[in-house]
Amino acid sequence: MIKFAGLSVPQLALFTRLLSVLKNDILLVQPACLSATEAPAALPPSIVEFLSHAVGIDQERVPVLWKELKSEVWAMEPATLGGVEEDMFRKHGWKRGLTSLMLYPPSHFCLNTACSRQTTLKDCKTRQAVVYTLDKGVMPAHAIQLHCPQCNTTYFPDYYVNSSLRTYYCDSVPDYLHVGAHQFIETKLVSLWTSLLLVAWVSASNFSRVYDMALSGQTEHDSPREDVTSLLFLIRASKRIVTRPRWKRRNKDIVANGQDAIDHACDTCLRTCVYEDGEEVDVQPIISDGLSMGHPRCGVPGGGCTKPLANNRKRFCNDHASFEKKCAVTTCYKEIVPETKSCDDPVHVEMERQHYARGKAAFTLTERLQRHRQAHPANDDDEGLPEIEEGEDVEWFEQDAGGNVKIRSGTNPGSVGIDDDPLCEASKSPEGNRKLTAQYGRVRSHSEQILVRSCGVVVGRATMHHAEAVSNLLYFTQEAFSVPRAHKPDFLIYDTACDAQRQVLTHPEQWSWFRDVKFPVDVFHFLNKHGIYHEFCQEWCNPADFPELLGPDGRWFFNTSIAEQTNVWLGGYHSIVREMLPVKYDFLLDELVRLPKHLYHC
Ligand SMILES: [Zn+2]
Ligand SMILES: [Zn+2]
Ligand SMILES: [Zn+2]
Ligand SMILES: [Zn+2]
Ligand SMILES: [Zn+2]
Repeated sequence: MIKFAGLSVPQLALFTRLLSVLKNDILLVQPACLSATEAPAALPPSIVEFLSHAVGIDQERVPVLWKELKSEVWAMEPATLGGVEEDMFRKHGWKRGLTSLMLYPPSHFCLNTACSRQTTLKDCKTRQAVVYTLDKGVMPAHAIQLHCPQCNTTYFPDYYVNSSLRTYYCDSVPDYLHVGAHQFIETKLVSLWTSLLLVAWVSASNFSRVYDMALSGQTEHDSPREDVTSLLFLIRASKRIVTRPRWKRRNKDIVANGQDAIDHACDTCLRTCVYEDGEEVDVQPIISDGLSMGHPRCGVPGGGCTKPLANNRKRFCNDHASFEKKCAVTTCYKEIVPETKSCDDPVHVEMERQHYARGKAAFTLTERLQRHRQAHPANDDDEGLPEIEEGEDVEWFEQDAGGNVKIRSGTNPGSVGIDDDPLCEASKSPEGNRKLTAQYGRVRSHSEQILVRSCGVVVGRATMHHAEAVSNLLYFTQEAFSVPRAHKPDFLIYDTACDAQRQVLTHPEQWSWFRDVKFPVDVFHFLNKHGIYHEFCQEWCNPADFPELLGPDGRWFFNTSIAEQTNVWLGGYHSIVREMLPVKYDFLLDELVRLPKHLYHC
């Protein structure tokens, strides 16, 4: 067999390739005065031991070989290791503190332009880290931080700290993102998760499970550190990518400055019309639609409170905590009997009994399970345990002349765009029965409303806390287009735009902002819901009266179903966001509607 320096060719290749990725480890233990451009004379003992086991040679042979090969190795680029070589690190390297992955700051020089230091930084600290990678699973690594003594800046792999201010390198997204004290995630893995979230509605916890089962490369025996369970770490890590204060900041920024796409325009959603007199006008309608989806909210009667719940086991916010002690029957203000949700009125006690009996009924449970728990069992995105749900359907009670109550229920009218009168407690049904309502469980915010361009770019999103009332839609639209960069729309297309138009005409001073906005109703709704006898609609909202919106074939030029289509996609996240409290809920939804632009080829 041909031998080089006493090694077979495969041994020689392994020896040099392993050393090529260990150059930083070799350098780290050398005195700072030594130049980094020349190979040091000696190898640290841990590396000698590692090479002897990995290559299968005596320990005494390693320094001899190093002497012969060091200049070649030093000139090599770090090798991209294959599975067998990674296995060598796993078997013989990890226990000696050696890893094939080193996370370095982008430069060995001080990046502070005001700093006088010209030579490489030598003041260095190494920390052990766990890296979640896409193709190599969970990897142990060393994260290096370099310090500049002149200007007192510390450089980490993805950011630097000066005067306790952390600044991320903004030139490009680093290959590895620092997400926890000792955890990094490969950016490629984050991209995979983002794509799965967008295209396949995969939650963070489900993605972690997939990672753990299929990608982490972990078996019981070879975990890099015993306390690392990749699943849990990734879940926590993914949540830390953007921490809560940052979510809050981002949410506030969107309220103040609008969505990033608020000034968006493209050939699909903007049309230049030429009138007969030669005048050119840009037409870019905005399309709105509501979606029944919400987060737990304060259930104070009337629904006017938007203060977040302290956690989602609570039914009321801190301001309205006293309502926990009030009888659940909406019109009753008596104090509850301990351990129940009703006062001592026998009718109210009976109502509570019937409510829970209905909740236990098999069909309700099956329905509830199917709708919410199957897709995301024990969802780790939940911020607390869910309780019995209110608002999935409408429940009320009827009391006859003899004082007997009977529970009744119907489907929730959902987002219908008009302000339904809440069931009136004192109203009498045709049979003379008295109607009563009560609230035993948590209440959810009513719906989500989006403003979309016809190309699919979402320019606004808001939670309708209590109802998708027309006035709420108007208010939301006006706010969304009152930020810097926004152009006020000429057309607001909405399924019940006629109600919005009527509202504006009835209260011209309140809605003066909408004076020059036109409200065509969606064609489908015009033909099917509004009817030719609806004179107001005919006069004001008939889409055929707006030639700017019609193509040469007399059909709708813009895709006015886009808001509904977008909501079908957004509705897929219901089971992921349903137990989130408002800060996280808003953050995730705003990020989601910001991302899918490319899905619409815009
Ligand atoms: Zn410096
Ligand atoms: Zn567009
Ligand atoms: Zn409240
Ligand atoms: Zn009562
Ligand atoms: Zn109408």
